[in-house]
Amino acid sequence: MKKTWTLPMQILLALVLGIAAGLVCGLAGLGDFTVNYLKPFGDIFVNLLKFIVVPVVLFSMIGGILSMDDMKKVGAAGVRTVAYFLCSTAVACVIGLALASLFDSAGLFPNLAGDAQSAEYEAAEYGGFLSTLVSIFPTNMWQSFSSANMLQVIVIALLFGGSIMAAGEKARLCRDIVASVYAVIEKLMAFVIGLAPIGVFTYIAWVVATQGTAILGSLALVLLCAYIGYIVHAVVVYSVSAKVFAGVSPAAFFKGASAAMILAFTSASSAATLPVSKECADSMGADSGISAFVLPLGATINMDGTAIYQCVAAVFLASCAGMRLSIGQMALVVVTATLASVGTAGVSGAGMLMLAMVLEAIGIPVSYIGLIVAVDRLFDMGRTCLNVTGDIACSLCVSRWAGKKA
Ligand code: ASP
Repeated sequence: MKKTWTLPMQILLALVLGIAAGLVCGLAGLGDFTVNYLKPFGDIFVNLLKFIVVPVVLFSMIGGILSMDDMKKVGAAGVRTVAYFLCSTAVACVIGLALASLFDSAGLFPNLAGDAQSAEYEAAEYGGFLSTLVSIFPTNMWQSFSSANMLQVIVIALLFGGSIMAAGEKARLCRDIVASVYAVIEKLMAFVIGLAPIGVFTYIAWVVATQGTAILGSLALVLLCAYIGYIVHAVVVYSVSAKVFAGVSPAAFFKGASAAMILAFTSASSAATLPVSKECADSMGADSGISAFVLPLGATINMDGTAIYQCVAAVFLASCAGMRLSIGQMALVVVTATLASVGTAGVSGAGMLMLAMVLEAIGIPVSYIGLIVAVDRLFDMGRTCLNVTGDIACSLCVSRWAGKKA
């Protein structure tokens, strides 16, 4: 049988080959070669990321709102589930931002301002809370789309999602159109993510050749920062809530969730892990009907690992751009990363696409994603593991709250 290379294997190979190519080019003084002949192919990948970000955000958020409509049918359990999801995601953002700011103020994140990248960078004007609030309400939605103004796109999605819900049966066609367009967008996302090995190889070769190997150390540090966040969140939020609200000890919780956590870590897809998450949750005493509702919804809208990653990446890339986030911008990151994680699909690489939205919102050029694209898979494995663990913890708590836990 012909051996096929899975995408993760291709990305890993691209990473190793890219670092090797970057080192060789750097030593041979061929930095310009990487800028002129390799980076453009990475740029194509990043352009495609930018190209799909508006439709992805728009349709996934409308779809997310419509899926909450189903929640009405499950009543109180639905409200508690969404409350758990939103609170834990907001805490995840705070953990991510706090840790990343700590790393940043300790001087562990690089400042690349002054090189070719930062020439493209223009800091966003931050005009205070009220003027930001006014500016997120669009007057012309085509303008919002064409300028990729993410906050406005979110507002448009919320308005349309809410209105479709309010129109009830008459909006059946709109619901079907949203579902159908989203199915197409998922294929488009899969296509763009499939090009990741090209982006990884060309960008890492360019970055290593022009920045030297020090950047690899920075990437290791930003990964470390995200993983500390993932672990702190799992221990502090999930195991504590499982203990306090569902009476499951931390050891029993992590042991019971381990099969799903391992599968999520290796597959980097919460959606693909769903059947195993259900097994794990039910075997720890979650009500089967409740986990059947909480877990698929969680795999669609509850992404705490993704939120931590987006916060850490935002602070890291801001630092690379020679920028320090103000408190107002951090609040904006919390809001956009929470919404972005709601809109992130439970498939590998989706969180990186939604990172574009967070960066746009705070005025960091999306092209900066190029700096971390090479190691996205490593972030993704950890964030998916956390995403799935959160869904399992939530199904245990909601089961207990509904008085249905064994
Ligand atoms: N891979 C993640 C998940 O499936 C989503 C992401 O890329 O952040 O949960």
